Amino acid sequence: LLAADGTVAASIFAEMSALAARTGAINLGQGFPDEDGPPEVLEAARQAISDGVNQYPPGRGLPVLRDAIARHQHRFYGLAANPETEVLVTAGATEALAATILALLEPGDEVVTFEPFYDAYGALIALGGGVHRTVRLRAPDFQPDPDELRAAVTDRTRLIIVNNPHNPTGAVFPADTLALIVELAERHDAVIVTDEVYEHLTFGVAHTPIATLPGAGGRTVTISSGGKTFNTTGWKIGWLTAPAPLVTAILAVKQFLTYVNGAPFQPAIAVGLDLPESYYSGIAADLRVKRDVLERGLTAAGFTVSRPQGSYFIVADAAPLGYPDGAEFCRALPGLAGVVAVPIAAFCSPEHRPEYASLVRFAYCKRVDVLERASEQLAGLT
Ligand code: PMP
Ligand code: GLN
Repeated sequence: LLAADGTVAASIFAEMSALAARTGAINLGQGFPDEDGPPEVLEAARQAISDGVNQYPPGRGLPVLRDAIARHQHRFYGLAANPETEVLVTAGATEALAATILALLEPGDEVVTFEPFYDAYGALIALGGGVHRTVRLRAPDFQPDPDELRAAVTDRTRLIIVNNPHNPTGAVFPADTLALIVELAERHDAVIVTDEVYEHLTFGVAHTPIATLPGAGGRTVTISSGGKTFNTTGWKIGWLTAPAPLVTAILAVKQFLTYVNGAPFQPAIAVGLDLPESYYSGIAADLRVKRDVLERGLTAAGFTVSRPQGSYFIVADAAPLGYPDGAEFCRALPGLAGVVAVPIAAFCSPEHRPEYASLVRFAYCKRVDVLERASEQLAGLT
């Protein structure tokens, strides 16, 4: 986790946001929205602070939020989670992932992820002493090959980490892929850890939590976050739902990572989780428009793009523009077009980076006028 010179290596997102700040370029690198979320949610946090919700909440999270998470799982997916024993509030999805991986992994256990993978997975598997195996997702649709998936999961596999909708590719896995993952987890007695932070951000396809599949519920840790659904990435309120024994094991680790987190933000996220269906369909429709604006802009600029079915992100191939090295391209892009993007190689293990070398990720969770300006600037690349 250290850079070659012994200093802490900045994550790709921190590095690219710093590059944007330094150059004044439009930041389509790090995935965070540039507008506030629902006013009710913001007001509820202010109110909670005024009401004195400012001390340590319970380790599992405030009951008001755990109840709201359980209601949300039932309302959208028909899932029953006992808020007393099967729900855990965490410092963002990141802590849910960290506590889960550190709790469930023994050194030497194998963990399967889908590559390109969200950068935290690789780092956390390393922290847990695990052996990281990946199943490759390839352009243009970034769906896994079933045979590669079958070959990756063995009796040595302890965890299968699914990320659906997928960062960085925007892929949404179809039901048969999810069913195969469950079948393999059952056959090899693995736990499924599913990162569904973009659960409400799909375009024209329904989100299916893997925990809803037959056989999955008893062996699945489902992770989400308020950040993506309520534009509150800086609040770091996430959660997981899982069978009670898994939650107990994960809580044992969580209590020594952060102990508890974000008391006044918890009732506010609870307000968000109870918002009507129209809020949820509205954010997906809104983001779809933004995706379309950026997709058009990138295509017009000469990139080959893969249309995402969900998430904040779109993958573009810079090779047709004469840039075979996406990392080099991203470093030059602020100067070339006043835009920041992230190389897909940052989401890959070193040995697989060459396969993804010319691909870059742009975030479209930004105002339409910002995306239009970025598109105009990128048009100057050719
Ligand atoms: N998982 C994925 C796939 C993400 O894209 C992100 C980043 N936003 C996270 C986890 C981390 O979420 P949080 O900010 O809630 O920790
Ligand atoms: N998840 C966001 C992204 O992929 C950023 C999170 C972070 O900065 N760690 O861009």
